[in-house]
Amino acid sequence: MFSSLQGRSAIVTGGSKGLGRGIAEVFAAAGINVLITGRTQTDIDATIAELGDRPGRVSGLAADVANPNDCQRVVAAAVERHGGVDIVCANAGVFPQCRLEDLTPEDIEHVLSVNFKGTVFMVQASLAALAASGHGRVIITSSITGPITGYPGWSHYGASKAAQLGFLRTAAMELARKKITMNAVLPGNIMTEGLIDMGQEYMDGMAATIPSGRLGTVADIGNAALFFATDEAAFITGQTLVVDGGQVLPESAAAIADL
Ligand code: NAP
Repeated sequence: MFSSLQGRSAIVTGGSKGLGRGIAEVFAAAGINVLITGRTQTDIDATIAELGDRPGRVSGLAADVANPNDCQRVVAAAVERHGGVDIVCANAGVFPQCRLEDLTPEDIEHVLSVNFKGTVFMVQASLAALAASGHGRVIITSSITGPITGYPGWSHYGASKAAQLGFLRTAAMELARKKITMNAVLPGNIMTEGLIDMGQEYMDGMAATIPSGRLGTVADIGNAALFFATDEAAFITGQTLVVDGGQVLPESAAAIADL
């Protein structure tokens, strides 16, 4: 049994949709007060309305993680509303597909700005508040794509997700003496609006390659993030947790066909 996280304060970037909303839902159910962000106010409002009836309070703020000033505003709002920041989930991300031959400098800059720099800016903005909490937690949403696997059209995206882990390993060391842990969840294919936009054919094809035989749910990711947030995970830092139903395990298509 894990210690209660009731009353802790969390920021979930990209909490207005998809995986972030799933993390926010699991956290609020555990009694954690959650500040969700995203750039689109209407999505934030819809998620707050949906997650309103939980033990933890859910509120929101429109902010762009690629803008360091916005990250500072998010932290200030969490401190004001919830008395501090104990947990930061650097989850906001974009995953446009573009083949290498068509990639422009702007495409690369966009993906790195949100996924990599946005992670760094959000963590930097939270440092003082996380240190003050005495049990700070940073949980990064990376991906299997980049650190472990590849997929056509996602060379820049994969690089941004691997970059988050390069950042993680040194930053986790720098923050350890401040009792801040920093870990990453590496989701496989999870059912979100973003993934649904890829089309039914993509989703069916993906499910067929996963030993568990299904795509993940946002709660699968929320529960993994919740574990890293617990007091019992205090001695785990700089680590990654793949949450993918075994997707990265098969050596070949034949291995799946033999199941
Ligand atoms: P999603 O459904 O498209 O949600 C993305 C969230 O990020 C939204 O709340 C979005 O809100 C926000 N966001 C995007 N750009 C932002 C910015 N510049 N500033 C602030 N917020 C921003 O995507 P998702 O599938 O949940 O993905 C979330 C994370 O999980 C990403 O880091 C992604 O790489 C990772 N991931 C997802 C999967 C999967 O299967 N879905 C697998 C592996 C990893 P606005 O658009 O309103 O800003």
